[in-house]
Amino acid sequence: MTESTTAARPTALVVGGGIGGMAAAVALQRVGWRVSLLERAPEFTEVGAGVQLGPNVTRVLRAWGLDEAVARVAAFPDRITARSALSGADLGTLPLGARCLERYGAPYASIHRADLHRLLWHAARDRAGVTLRNEQWVEQFSDDEAGPVRITTVDGHAEHGDALVGADGVWSRVRQLVLNDGKPRTTGHVAYRAMLVQQQLPQHLRSSQVTVWLGPRLHVVQYPVRGGDWMNVVAIVDGPVPAHPDDWSLHASTADIEAATAHTCAPLRDLILAAPSASANAEPWRLWALADRPPVSAAAQMARGRVALLGDAAHPMRPYLAQGAGMAIEDAQALATCLAFDAEPVAARLARYADMRWRRCARVQAGAIRNGGIYHATGLMRLGRDAALRALGERVMDRPWLYSYTS
Ligand SMILES: Cc1cc2nc3c(=O)[nH]c(=O)nc-3n(C[C@H](O)[C@H](O)[C@H](O)COP(=O)(O)OP(=O)(O)OC[C@H]3O[C@@H](n4cnc5c(N)ncnc54)[C@H](O)[C@@H]3O)c2cc1C
Repeated sequence: MTESTTAARPTALVVGGGIGGMAAAVALQRVGWRVSLLERAPEFTEVGAGVQLGPNVTRVLRAWGLDEAVARVAAFPDRITARSALSGADLGTLPLGARCLERYGAPYASIHRADLHRLLWHAARDRAGVTLRNEQWVEQFSDDEAGPVRITTVDGHAEHGDALVGADGVWSRVRQLVLNDGKPRTTGHVAYRAMLVQQQLPQHLRSSQVTVWLGPRLHVVQYPVRGGDWMNVVAIVDGPVPAHPDDWSLHASTADIEAATAHTCAPLRDLILAAPSASANAEPWRLWALADRPPVSAAAQMARGRVALLGDAAHPMRPYLAQGAGMAIEDAQALATCLAFDAEPVAARLARYADMRWRRCARVQAGAIRNGGIYHATGLMRLGRDAALRALGERVMDRPWLYSYTS
């Protein structure tokens, strides 16, 4: 068997055209691979809320030459403030802005998911050797040593390549075929999200910072996106799992989210009540069920043979460290670094990728689970949390192990 289907430039088959798949396309093209990306949806779009991009992520995007594209559509909050959802009191602040640049050499950004996806998509689309296809629902693959990796879609379309990257999200088909380890678990939390136009909010509710409101049994995160013109609000509450846990865009009742936050302090309550009049949409709230898996426990869970998993397919995580998209982008960079090393067979390069990534991804997954417990703490644990934040503030809110990472 030859190691490459094309002697000059090997081909990666990327399944899934979300943030992870597009990031993989950009990163692999940069190290000389051809990319054939297959996405089941009829067009490349992203729904959903905003995402925060720590300096560990903006550093990668800068290395790919995308910092200006990010700067055109992102916001750069000057701090993260933790506040009590019950009393409204400030509990602690982590300065971002210049301090983040100084400490980590890269900015902290907040961005609409659709804007991040679009800039990665355009970067991938504009590069030679990258083919992006819609309406390609990948159903099967074979990784038989006698030949190239082969994928087939539900319509019978087949493609060959030198490596397969499963970037097909939380409910990944590629993962199911490679690991056969069952479905993700729903966490018992549901997330409501709304995009608000800052100018349509009363002055006192507008904000250019990240605010995390910590409750018992809920938390709410708000931050600016689109240069600060819009505000992303996500409220995560304990709640029943909806009938379609894999749907990210279920319509949510305004009355339900208002009832779930009825006991919170006036400033937070005002923000929730202002949503209908500050949204372009009469029904501003969408809902989805959070799902994850236990932290990765071995490199073999991220790559086998010539197949690698990336992003949510590899390590679906709770959003409490705001790093899901970030880990997908870090994965893409590490994958490219490893695949560029052409002295080794592809399977050995993918094993190197998995070895490089799995412990970090596991740490971030575990950290997110732990943070969820802290954010939603009740009773004495909540009082201890608030006291620790008041006493230590920045020291417990900053995460050098997370933000200083380079792959
Ligand atoms: C409430 C919440 C807040 C979040 N906040 C942050 C944050 O602040 N910062 C952050 O970094 N992350 C955040 N995230 C996480 C982040 O959005 C995801 O982790 C990230 O988008 C994952 O990207 P992905 O490409 O791996 O998967 P996805 O975005 O799910 O993309 C998978 C793609 O694969 C396609 N696909 C699936 N199956 C097939 C198939 N068989 N064939 C072909 N195509 C297929 C799908 O249509 C989809 O386009 C948050 C998530 C939640 C829920």
